[in-house]
Amino acid sequence: MSDWRRYTEIPRIAYFSMEIGLMTEIPTYSGGLGILAGDTIRSAADLKLPLVAVTLISRKGYFRQTFNAEGWQQESSVDWKPEDLLELLPGKALVTIENRDVKVQAWMYQVKSPTGGELPVLFLDTDIPGNLPEDRKITDHLYGGGEDYRLKQEIVLGIGGARLLQILGFQLRKYHLNEGHASLLTLELLNNHHRPVEDTWDEHDSWDTSWVRSVCIFTTHTPVEAGHDRFPYDLVERIMGDVIPLKLLKELGGEDELNMTTLALNMSHFVNGVAKKHGDVSQALFPGFEVHAITNGIHPFTWASPYLITLYDKYLPGWANEPELLVRVDNIPDQEIYDAHAGAKAYLFQYIEEKTGTRLDPEVLTIGFARRATAYKRANMIFTDPQRLLKIGAGKLQLVFSGKAHPHDDYGKEMILQILQQADFFGDKLKIVYLPNYDMELASRLIPGVDVWLNNPLRPLEASGTSGMKAALNGVPNFSVLDGWWIEGHIEGVTGWSIGPPPTETTATVNNSDEDVKDLYKKLEETIIPLYYNDRAGWIKLTKNAIGKNAYYFNTHVMMRRYVTEAYLQ
Ligand SMILES: *Cc1c(COP(=O)(O)O)cnc(C)c1O
Repeated sequence: MSDWRRYTEIPRIAYFSMEIGLMTEIPTYSGGLGILAGDTIRSAADLKLPLVAVTLISRKGYFRQTFNAEGWQQESSVDWKPEDLLELLPGKALVTIENRDVKVQAWMYQVKSPTGGELPVLFLDTDIPGNLPEDRKITDHLYGGGEDYRLKQEIVLGIGGARLLQILGFQLRKYHLNEGHASLLTLELLNNHHRPVEDTWDEHDSWDTSWVRSVCIFTTHTPVEAGHDRFPYDLVERIMGDVIPLKLLKELGGEDELNMTTLALNMSHFVNGVAKKHGDVSQALFPGFEVHAITNGIHPFTWASPYLITLYDKYLPGWANEPELLVRVDNIPDQEIYDAHAGAKAYLFQYIEEKTGTRLDPEVLTIGFARRATAYKRANMIFTDPQRLLKIGAGKLQLVFSGKAHPHDDYGKEMILQILQQADFFGDKLKIVYLPNYDMELASRLIPGVDVWLNNPLRPLEASGTSGMKAALNGVPNFSVLDGWWIEGHIEGVTGWSIGPPPTETTATVNNSDEDVKDLYKKLEETIIPLYYNDRAGWIKLTKNAIGKNAYYFNTHVMMRRYVTEAYLQ
């Protein structure tokens, strides 16, 4: 097939992520974190950045979502065949788990850009003859199992990944930790490069962390303390053993338990949150560390619908590798942009009819909402007052939902159930559909095909959010709570609309639900519905602003150039 050795010829940045969303057929992602990783890698390839990405193979994927007759989410594993899409590389690393040697191998996928740029993604795998049956399952389920399973996965990712890169001969200049899951990598680096001579092993003064710090970059994605991975030290001792002296590990990773975020913070020279606000929130969470902010993005070509791609190619040639050109969107004639959106809408409605039997009306204002079904995202908020919604929206609104709840998240499943019940209650008066099994393919059909993209998370829990950027790129205005990236992208009535009060919170203790719901209904009734039905030119203006004032900036090309200048080259 290919010769992976050519990727070892120049020094690279190793990008570690527990999940990576490259394509629907490689189901090794669950949501925003993995999609961001995939978009990061695609932009890096377009920009010819020397990167090598490392993740887990997740042989059983995340899960496939269906619903039973009552509307309760059912999960099944996604079996896929790595050998159909990936190339097994020679070389195996050993890691120690519960005092046993566990072999780790890597499969490679090559991301190739039309610019000629290309880079390898390594998928780590323990399903190797000779490993114990239970060890062969370590890389099966993304975010499956309990604490033990997660720690084993993090050992494979961080320590196994670092060792395999070395065995394969990669030269590395920096290590980028996308979230804390790969933090154990820093211990492997410390051990390799700055392990003192044996008789001073226990004296932490003789361990020098400065070199490791100078090569590590840490991006945090979680705005609440409880969201960070942590493990009790007795578990760590039992499963991982002593990689470095326990006393030193506690100094670097936390006194009471091993906190992967604390470890990454202590071992990185550059730390960042994923939007300006999230940078502030993280700074408040981690006093004593300097936290920067680099706002997330999306990969433009991946997330533009075929209808928009045709238009952008015609009027803004070069846009895919230079998305700043989208700023000239006003060169596209109104009618053509209107028709492109109508095409994307019809394409979505056809899918909806095939999947659910429901026929939506292409003339009716259609609101989309799709993301992981978890409490803070408040998918059911629009149903707080069903009578009010009916009064505002009967005959004038349609709603399309999608999103998976984590298998252990009963509250998330309850939210989905409520939406399905509301769909029955509203019936034909206000059509509501819930599309099962949200994945990359569905997202790329759903988001461009609706008229407004709704997002109403509990502040400040949406660290960035990226689906709204996909909407903007397709000329779909955002209607969203002022949180994450939208604080930076929002100009009221110009790029879309806010929901609720301006952002002030740096913790999740304030709950603006009542205010948010009131504002949501009021703007729908007084602003959004009238504009959609009575002022087509005004609506098209908004569509163009979403592209020219949001999408030109909120993309992974801009984001990666910032990582290069602010982190990788520092
Ligand atoms: C973009 C995307 C996400 C992330 O959406 P958010 O709005 O940031 O939560 C999750 N899942 C899929 C399949 C996506 O395409």
